[in-house]
Amino acid sequence: MTDLSFDHQKLSNRILGSMVLGLFVGIALNFTLADNEWFKAMVLDGFLSMIGEVFVRFLSMLVVPLVFVSLITGVSALSDPKKLGRVGGKAVSLYLFTTGVAVTLALVSAIIIQPGIGASPEVLVEREIAAQPSFFQVLVDMVPRNPVEAMANGDMLPIIVFAVLIGLSIALAGESGKRIGHFFNDFNTVVMRLVGFVMLMAPYGVFALITVLAATTGWSTFLGVLKYVLLVLAMLVIHAAVSYSLILKLFTGLSPRIFFSKMRGVMAFAFSTASSAATIPVTLKTVQQQLGVNNRVSSFTVPLGATINMDGTAIMQGIAAGFIAQYYGVDLSMGQYLMVVVMVIIASIGAAGVPGVGLVLLAGVLAQVGLPAEGIALILGVDRLLDMTRTAVNVTGDAMVTTVVANSEGELDHAIYAQKN
Ligand code: ASP
Repeated sequence: MTDLSFDHQKLSNRILGSMVLGLFVGIALNFTLADNEWFKAMVLDGFLSMIGEVFVRFLSMLVVPLVFVSLITGVSALSDPKKLGRVGGKAVSLYLFTTGVAVTLALVSAIIIQPGIGASPEVLVEREIAAQPSFFQVLVDMVPRNPVEAMANGDMLPIIVFAVLIGLSIALAGESGKRIGHFFNDFNTVVMRLVGFVMLMAPYGVFALITVLAATTGWSTFLGVLKYVLLVLAMLVIHAAVSYSLILKLFTGLSPRIFFSKMRGVMAFAFSTASSAATIPVTLKTVQQQLGVNNRVSSFTVPLGATINMDGTAIMQGIAAGFIAQYYGVDLSMGQYLMVVVMVIIASIGAAGVPGVGLVLLAGVLAQVGLPAEGIALILGVDRLLDMTRTAVNVTGDAMVTTVVANSEGELDHAIYAQKN
C-alpha cells in the first residue's frame, strides 16, 4: 500500500513555492502568449483551468461530509452538553468582536487616507444586485427544513444545526448511541485521510490557479484605484499581523509566530481558492494536527467561522464604503458610519464563504446608508486579488478564535502547538 502521509512543513513550502512560481509564469505569459488565441483556448482556459477547477472541486467535495461527520464526532464526545453552549457563546462573541474591530479599522483608515479622492476607475462594469435576505430570515434559515437539501446546497449553518442535534442525541442515546458514535468516529478518521490525500495535489492545483489568474488579469485596471487596492491590502495585513497576534497573546500567552508559521499552508489554500468554505478541510486538519486543538472544539468553531466570521471581507467593505462615499462626494455622518459597522457585521453572518460574496453583500450595506449601489462597479475590476487576500485573512481569523476558545476550555494540546512543524 502506498503511503500517503506527508510532512506538513515540506508541503506548505511546496505550496508557497508553487504560488510564487505561478505568479511569475502567469505574469510572463500575460505579456507574451496570453493574447494568442490558440494558447489561451488550449492552455489557459483549457488545460490549466481544468487542473485548477478539478483541485477546487476535490476540496469542495470534502466540505459537507467532513463538517457533518467531524461535528457529530466532536459533539457526541462532549462529556457535558453545557460545554457546547459555552464554546458556541465564546466563539460567536469573539467572531463578532474581531469583525467589529476589522470594520472599524477599515473605516478609520478610509477616513484618514481618503482613497476615493482623485480615483479614476477604468472599468465600470454593470452588475445585477442580488436581494439580501433579512436578518430574521437568516435566523429562520438556520433550521433546515430538509437536511438533505441543506447538504445538497452546501448551506453551512443548517448543516451545523442538524449535525449538532444528531451529535447530542448520540451522546444521550445509551448503547445505540455508543455504537453509532464509534461508526462516526471511524468515518471521521477515514475522511481526514482523504483530506490529506487531496492536499497532496495542492502544489499543482495552486500553481494552475495562480498562473491563469496572473496571465489573464488586466493589470492596468488597478491604476485608477491603486490607493484603494493598496489601502485594503495594507489593512488586511495589519489586522492579521497586529490584531490577531495581540488577541492570541493576550488571551492565551501562546506564540503568534508559531501560529502564523503553521498557518501558512492554510493561508495559501484560501488565497488561491478565494473560498473559506472550500478551505474548511485544510483549516480543520491544521488546527487539529498542527496547532493541537481538540476536534470537540474545532469541528464546531471552524465551519461556524467559515460562515459567520469574515474579517477580511469586513475590511474590504468598510474601506469600499468610504471610497464610494468619497468618490461621489457624499459626507457620511457619525450615525451612518456606525450603521456601516453594524450592517457589515450582520451581513457577514449569513453569507457563505465563497468567491466574490463580499462584493454582493456590499450592495446591502451601501443601500442601508444611502450610498449608490452602482459604486460597486468602481471596484469590481480589481476585486479578485482582494478577494483572495481577504479570504486568507478570514480563515486565519477562524483558526485564531478556534485556538483561543480551545485554550480557554482546556482543549488545546500545548505540546503539539509548540512542536516544530
Ligand atoms: N471569498 C471570501 C471567503 O470565502 C468571501 C468574500 O469576501 O467574498 O471568505
